[in-house]
Amino acid sequence: MTSQASRASGNRHTSRILHRQWLTKDTFTLTLERPPAFHFQAGQRICLLTDGKNRDYSLIPGNSHDQLILLIRSVEEGVVSPHLSRCPLGTALDFTGPSGHFINRPSSRPAVLIATGTGIAPFAAMCRTGMQGFVLLHGVRQVDELYFRDLMEPAALSYVPCLTGTPSSRPSHGFPGRVTDYLRRHFPEGEYDFYLAGRREMIAEVMDIVDHRFPSSRVYSEIFF
Ligand SMILES: Cc1cc2nc3c(=O)[nH]c(=O)nc-3n(C[C@H](O)[C@H](O)[C@H](O)COP(=O)(O)OP(=O)(O)OC[C@H]3O[C@@H](n4cnc5c(N)ncnc54)[C@H](O)[C@@H]3O)c2cc1C
Repeated sequence: MTSQASRASGNRHTSRILHRQWLTKDTFTLTLERPPAFHFQAGQRICLLTDGKNRDYSLIPGNSHDQLILLIRSVEEGVVSPHLSRCPLGTALDFTGPSGHFINRPSSRPAVLIATGTGIAPFAAMCRTGMQGFVLLHGVRQVDELYFRDLMEPAALSYVPCLTGTPSSRPSHGFPGRVTDYLRRHFPEGEYDFYLAGRREMIAEVMDIVDHRFPSSRVYSEIFF
């Protein structure tokens, strides 16, 4: 059921927060009411409008059709993300969207998904809508930041946690280093469709590696910050 709090005007919508779940000390999921007739493609984002500030967030389908999920890191020095981490359940949120072209484009080339941190969100959306058989490199500091692992690992052909934290935080089967180190040292040559989401520096570095090692590949990217 969708209450009157969720309504749309053009591609501007109003929703409200139903649930907040903390996954680590600074990262949480927000479950939102899905406005009526709001549709999106996995990998797309919305732009939240809060106190005169605009911030983009990747959309993840909710557990039921009338819900949407956002995966958010509360940035200590940030404006919108700390607000979203604290505001009461039931708070109304205005947003525009969906927008973006970062969607799954099936081809004969193997799909290689590379995320840092919350960059896993668009891939969780793709996975929830049926994508499978991909290689996933997820770069985080600690094991507990491998968000949506339960969803992603069974659907992946190969799931590679890349951990940059202290050695004690690394699982025996994870790669101790950055996603770009893994790509350089361990990835077999070939033609791939690379999907990159997260930090700008990671995306720039992967593009450089692709130019040199996988020149016939395609790259799709979503820069978060
Ligand atoms: C296309 C797109 C999709 C995005 N999707 C998501 C998403 O699904 N989840 C999400 O948490 N954020 C996402 N972001 C980032 C988000 O829009 C905000 O920038 C973020 O929430 C910080 O906003 P703020 O107002 O709290 O801090 P700001 O004052 O805007 O930023 C402060 C600093 O925080 C850092 N930062 C921003 N985002 C992150 C992050 N996710 N993790 C670590 N450090 C960060 C940057 O260095 C930035 O300079 C996305 C951004 C874009 C452009």
